[in-house]
Amino acid sequence: MRTAVPRLVVTQDNEFWFRAAREGRLEIQRCADCHTLRHPPAPACPECRSFDWDTVESSRRCTLHSYTVIHHPRDDAFDYPLVVGLVDLEEGTRLVADVSGVDREELEFGMELEVCFAEHAHGEILPRLRRREKREEER
Ligand SMILES: [Zn+2]
Repeated sequence: MRTAVPRLVVTQDNEFWFRAAREGRLEIQRCADCHTLRHPPAPACPECRSFDWDTVESSRRCTLHSYTVIHHPRDDAFDYPLVVGLVDLEEGTRLVADVSGVDREELEFGMELEVCFAEHAHGEILPRLRRREKREEER
């Protein structure tokens, strides 16, 4: 695909996150000392400066905090208008990803969404937001 989208910059600090995404899991980095969650991944805890961390797996349930609709510039890697959402994950951190399958007229702050995964430019697997489907235990 001809695309101007830059390749991912994978580092020692965020490699776990992209690896989990390829396996269909959304992981959130957690400070091993004070247990504060953080995203995007970073080497040190912004609360206590600890360099020790582990991860928790997100439920992928989230609500729409804000969004924007991109019309230009266009890139072959995306369909336009491109809706990009900022969501509050159930665990408390936020995530930015494109929204799929929801008309922009239907978007409402606070609406229930969930994170799924899709192939992006260069074959990378990255999060995408979609309408939340009721799971068995919620019916
Ligand atoms: Zn900490």
